[in-house]
Amino acid sequence: MRTELGTPVKYTLPIGENLLEMNELIGKEVSMKFDGRINCISCGKKTKTSFGQGFCYNCLQTAPEASESVLRPELSKSHLGIARDMEWAEKHDLIDHIVYLAVSTEVKVGVTRIHQIPTRWIDQGASSAIKLATTPNRHIAGIIEVFLKKHFTDKTNWRAMLQCETALICTLLEEKEKVIRLLPGELRKYVEIDNSITEICYPVQKFPDKIKSVSFDKMPVIEGVLAGIKGQYLIFGNDSVLNIRKHNGYFIQIKSHS
Ligand SMILES: [Zn+2]
Repeated sequence: MRTELGTPVKYTLPIGENLLEMNELIGKEVSMKFDGRINCISCGKKTKTSFGQGFCYNCLQTAPEASESVLRPELSKSHLGIARDMEWAEKHDLIDHIVYLAVSTEVKVGVTRIHQIPTRWIDQGASSAIKLATTPNRHIAGIIEVFLKKHFTDKTNWRAMLQCETALICTLLEEKEKVIRLLPGELRKYVEIDNSITEICYPVQKFPDKIKSVSFDKMPVIEGVLAGIKGQYLIFGNDSVLNIRKHNGYFIQIKSHS
């Protein structure tokens, strides 16, 4: 789902050629049907199974957007001229990256490309976030993240995030100051001077009591009253939650009525 920062976040779902305004479906009965077709998000070819959130097996092995440095930025070697595709790396790895602290249920550290802010924070369901450092490439951002993993988690506990109505009261600025003191001197020069805190609120009418994770791999039809959207998850009134990003490239029909 595409997102736009607003109060609350505005979600749109690209379905074929159309863009569906998801916020308008909240409170309504929604039925989503998967017809069995999956197209790779890189090469567009049909694939039986989706790997790494939308790739065919071949692209998982070869496509630059599926390389190991996507999940582990510290493994990026493009600053040394080594990458699956240097042209892609120049546009995606050798550009400014942001190391950030974000709060969903606890404070986590993460890395993203500069133009992915605030999208990345919204996708994770963060309630607030602050920039820590700006680095000239993905590798250095990854090195800072690895260093900070000793002090903060780098994972989002998505179950807790989806049940968390009130944001953890936490002073991100204090955490940032703590981080600056922890960083070794040679990494401290990348510290970001912008201390503004982005607060994010999601269109959710009702948070789930118990979470039932559902997927089109197990059931072709997923339906219920849409109770809200947080991160990349659709929350249904019957406590089912659907991770939309997991189904990138899936051919889905969607119907709704009040
Ligand atoms: Zn492919």
